[in-house]
Amino acid sequence: MASEEPKLQKRAGKAAYSGRRRPSTRMSGFKSHSEATGGSLRRLPSKVYRASPQSPLNIDFILPEIASGHFSGFGFYYRSDVTVSLQSNREWFSSRFHTNYEDPLSVNKCGFIWQAEEPNDFRITLTPSRATDIEIFNAECGEVWHDFFEGARDNVLKNIHTFAPEANFYTRFGEVVIGATAHEKPFSVVVKECNRCARFLPINLPAERHTLSFSNHCVAKRPCRHKGFGIVNDLDKGVFVELEYGFQLECRFCKKFVVNAALNPQRSADQMKEDSQRRRYFELMIAEMSGVSEQLAFRHKTGVELASFIWEKFGKKCFKCGDRLRTAREMHLDHTRPLALLWPLDETATALCGSCNSTKRDRQPKDFYSQTELVELSKFTGIPLPELLKPLPNINVLKALIERCDWLVDDFLNQDFLKKEKDGKTSAELICKSLDRVLKISELDFGDFSFSKKWNDHFLA
Ligand SMILES: [Zn+2]
Ligand SMILES: [Zn+2]
Repeated sequence: MASEEPKLQKRAGKAAYSGRRRPSTRMSGFKSHSEATGGSLRRLPSKVYRASPQSPLNIDFILPEIASGHFSGFGFYYRSDVTVSLQSNREWFSSRFHTNYEDPLSVNKCGFIWQAEEPNDFRITLTPSRATDIEIFNAECGEVWHDFFEGARDNVLKNIHTFAPEANFYTRFGEVVIGATAHEKPFSVVVKECNRCARFLPINLPAERHTLSFSNHCVAKRPCRHKGFGIVNDLDKGVFVELEYGFQLECRFCKKFVVNAALNPQRSADQMKEDSQRRRYFELMIAEMSGVSEQLAFRHKTGVELASFIWEKFGKKCFKCGDRLRTAREMHLDHTRPLALLWPLDETATALCGSCNSTKRDRQPKDFYSQTELVELSKFTGIPLPELLKPLPNINVLKALIERCDWLVDDFLNQDFLKKEKDGKTSAELICKSLDRVLKISELDFGDFSFSKKWNDHFLA
């Protein structure tokens, strides 16, 4: 059954995991699919089986031998126009393993991931309340592993089953036997692309709230107008479809293990606070070094406040979702290019609403905006598209910092609040380390110049 599913369903997932377990950090094996926008949907065929209360549909899963420390998993999607009850010949099976959307148009999912070293086989029986057709999509089982499991916290792994079947990255397939003859139903299951793993995974339309592989973007009652979330590109029909609630760009697995993990890589609240502090120090450093802050310099140049200028330029609307921003104060200014690469808040900033700004957080533009939006953003901000796709360090600021290195170590970093030690490190040291990283990314040849070294020399002197 598994091998008969369309190639598309497996293509990118295959690329996103490695069959071998190797010592790795959380980020290794991470592949970003820049061509995937998360805004496309298509339809894939399902298999249809006749079943009745007297002759229910049996699905047998025969798992391969599972490597030590790896997971076993199974999963499938099903749909019927009547109530279907699910049982197993194994005691561990429960109703927690599947959704129960009683809607003839909605697909349900069923799946589990568990840690077991023994090979296993079991049967799931689907009994409809009367004789009818049951549609089955993507019934699979096997050994499950993903590099991201390696670095995940224990309590996340303990609940990994709640991400089945979208987290079922099979490294070795088992056998699935369905005890009835099937006919294919083309264009049956609506699948949406994940902008991270680029897999197409099922969603329910029109019952968007019957979520499967993607969480809703908006759960408010009003229609979701968030661009890139509320509008999806129907690839089969060649039209854009407007959704009511919209879906997250990332599948539930990627949201949990890639996006949230990258934004918050096992960090404590304290560390988060330190991060935002370091951001403030960067802002302060650039502003002080310029003699006047870029924002002030801009005000001098045009006589207009930066905020009102950006607000007007973006049509008093959030660039991402288009929500009205009634005042400039209501707007959140986004740096567009990362502050960590020394880009201060200036006339290239982006106008966002509070909700979009907090969703974006430290994400790179290419990880937050669609291709179309990036082209539009490039026009608004004047930042060339290639730079939005791959931001480079702000060379002018970097050069100025090197030229004015004495000011940096003697004056700026020499302030008491930057020299306070915490866990054996000072903010001054951490700022130097970050600057050395920027230096490295810039790929400019500054010989063996190092901010950390300058700071240490200053300390020893
Ligand atoms: Zn994904
Ligand atoms: Zn917004």
